[in-house]
Amino acid sequence: MTGGTAPRVAVIGAGLAGVSAARWLVQAGANVAVLEKSAGVGGRMATRRRDGWNADHGVPAFAAHTAAFAAEVARWQATGWVAAHGTGWIGVPTMHAPVRGLAAGLALTTAITVRALQRSPAGWHLHAEAQAGPQVYGPFDALVLAIPLPQAQALLRTVPGTDRLLALLQPGNAAIDPCWTLLVRHASPWMPPVPLAVVPPLAKVVPQAGRAGRADDAWVLHAQADWSRTHLEADPAWITASLLTAFASMGAPVPVATTVHRWRYAQGGLTVSPTDLWWPDLRLALCGDGLIPLAIPASSTSASAPAVSAGLAGVEAAWHSARAVLPALCAALALPVAID
Ligand SMILES: Cc1cc2nc3c(=O)[nH]c(=O)nc-3n(C[C@H](O)[C@H](O)[C@H](O)COP(=O)(O)OP(=O)(O)OC[C@H]3O[C@@H](n4cnc5c(N)ncnc54)[C@H](O)[C@@H]3O)c2cc1C
Repeated sequence: MTGGTAPRVAVIGAGLAGVSAARWLVQAGANVAVLEKSAGVGGRMATRRRDGWNADHGVPAFAAHTAAFAAEVARWQATGWVAAHGTGWIGVPTMHAPVRGLAAGLALTTAITVRALQRSPAGWHLHAEAQAGPQVYGPFDALVLAIPLPQAQALLRTVPGTDRLLALLQPGNAAIDPCWTLLVRHASPWMPPVPLAVVPPLAKVVPQAGRAGRADDAWVLHAQADWSRTHLEADPAWITASLLTAFASMGAPVPVATTVHRWRYAQGGLTVSPTDLWWPDLRLALCGDGLIPLAIPASSTSASAPAVSAGLAGVEAAWHSARAVLPALCAALALPVAID
């Protein structure tokens, strides 16, 4: 960082954690570049578009247990980015709507995969792959890794001096479940029997009816985590047939269209101390749902759930992890903490 200029920070990953961290860093005065390998933002907060129909193939709905995240979600609702759905929340008209809203105005590069990291006295350089060919970004005064744990580890293995950090992250891998997901469209909305008993290897079946912007004749089927792990490398056609057989045995009609998606890293994480999210010697911050900050400050929890960290997961954990790493990161960059 040179005197008088804004510190430069790279954020890898434009899911909720990365975009939230980037937005707060920009508000604090940093010069932030966000790099994302997909064509758009949102990560696992995702809606798949098909010819004439949409369905949510990532998180089906998320909860807000803590007062701080509930306040954030209330702001999203006021802006029209989310709507209440059952006991939780969904993005409208797509699951990634809140992340897209938060990302407005950020310096974001999509369709670029960071393949290797390089640390030198000048700062961080990122070696990335885009359609146009290899690219190098940097130097950056600090780096934020906002990607699933195993992907973070793969990048950190390219950096000397990260052994202690890699050892901390390693147990998290076992906690992250994969999920084979099948999107199914019927010729007309299917009214299932009530109650609907889910047949293995399905874990959950999610109707898209009642979700603004989604096809009301579509369902999203989630396979069980263990089954997904066992069959992670199986032929997608076999996965489709297996999940459809289970769905048919629940009484579902034959679909007119299907799309299968493999989430190699769907859900789960490791509970860590907030101090483990910022590595001062490396000028490296970690966030995302894979690293659930232990002991969310009492002031940010609702009175009815004072020790909420233990149950924090998914979208809410991703948001809290970004929030938890901000104070140390901003302090190191001599910036004020600016969380709105
Ligand atoms: C099937 C399924 C069901 C779920 N159910 C629930 C639920 O019921 N409740 C709940 O709260 N949560 C649920 N989740 C989890 C929830 O979606 C995630 O916890 C949350 O979206 C994670 O946000 P994140 O920002 O940490 O990571 P992500 O959303 O994964 O964002 C990380 C981003 O980094 C990008 N990236 C990765 N590697 C690189 C690289 N090398 N270079 C550039 N970019 C890179 C990815 O493309 C991605 O966009 C579910 C997820 C799935 C898939």
